[in-house]
Amino acid sequence: MALIENKKNEKPVIDTTNLKLAQSDSYNALLRGNNEWVERKLKEDGDFFKNLAKGQHPQVLWIGCSDSRVPANEVTGTKAGEVFVHRNIANVCVHSDMNMLSVLDYAVNVLKVKHVIVAGHYGCGGVAAAMSNKQFGLIDNWLRHIKDVYRLHSHELDRITDETQRQNRLVELNVSEQVYNLCKTSIIQNAWMERNDLEVHGWVIDLGTGLVKDIKVSSSSPHNLGYVYELDSIEAVASH
Ligand SMILES: [Zn+2]
Repeated sequence: MALIENKKNEKPVIDTTNLKLAQSDSYNALLRGNNEWVERKLKEDGDFFKNLAKGQHPQVLWIGCSDSRVPANEVTGTKAGEVFVHRNIANVCVHSDMNMLSVLDYAVNVLKVKHVIVAGHYGCGGVAAAMSNKQFGLIDNWLRHIKDVYRLHSHELDRITDETQRQNRLVELNVSEQVYNLCKTSIIQNAWMERNDLEVHGWVIDLGTGLVKDIKVSSSSPHNLGYVYELDSIEAVASH
C-alpha cells in the first residue's frame, strides 16, 4: 500500500492494488472451496442437496467457542444438517443472553434435539485472557463471566502452580459451569418435565490431538441443581 499522486484532484490517494490482491486471494479461495465441496458431495450422493433443502432434523445442539480451530461438524465428523450450532468467545452460557437463549429454545422445543453439548477447548484465548489482568476492550465484560468461574473455584485453581495446567483446569471448570448454567434455565428444566430424552454434556477438545474429552458432567434431570435453582412446573405455580 502506498500513497500515489492524483494530479486531477491534487490529493494523494491510497494505492490498494496489492492489498486487494491479497484479500481477493483468500476470498476467492472460499468460493473455489465451495465449488469443490459441492462437487465432492454430489459425487458421494447425487441427492445430497435435494435432501438438505427439505429441512433439518439435527439431534444435537453444539455450544462451542468461536475459535476457528474448533468447527462442530469437522470435530465430530458430522455432515451439514446433523448439528445445530451456537458459538461465542469461550463457549459461555449466560442466562440473560437473548441470542444463546433463542438458539437453545429453538433447538430444544422446535427441533427437539436430544443432546446439548458445551464444547470448550484447551488453549482457549478467551480463558487465558480471563485469567490475566490485561484489558482487551469490550470483550473484558464478556470474559468477566469466566473470571466469576475462577472465583468460584479459586481454592482449587490457586493451588496449581503451572500456568498451563491452571489454564487447562479453568477451561474444564468453565465448561462444567456453563453446563450447569444451561441446566438452570427454564428452557431445559421445562423440557425435562415434558420428556426424558434430553441430556446436557460437557466436552473439552484437545487441539494438540484433536480428541474430545468428555468431562463427565452430563445431566438429564434437575436433581443436582441445588434447591434454589430447581423450578416447579408452570401448572404447579398456577394452582398454588
Ligand atoms: Zn476458545
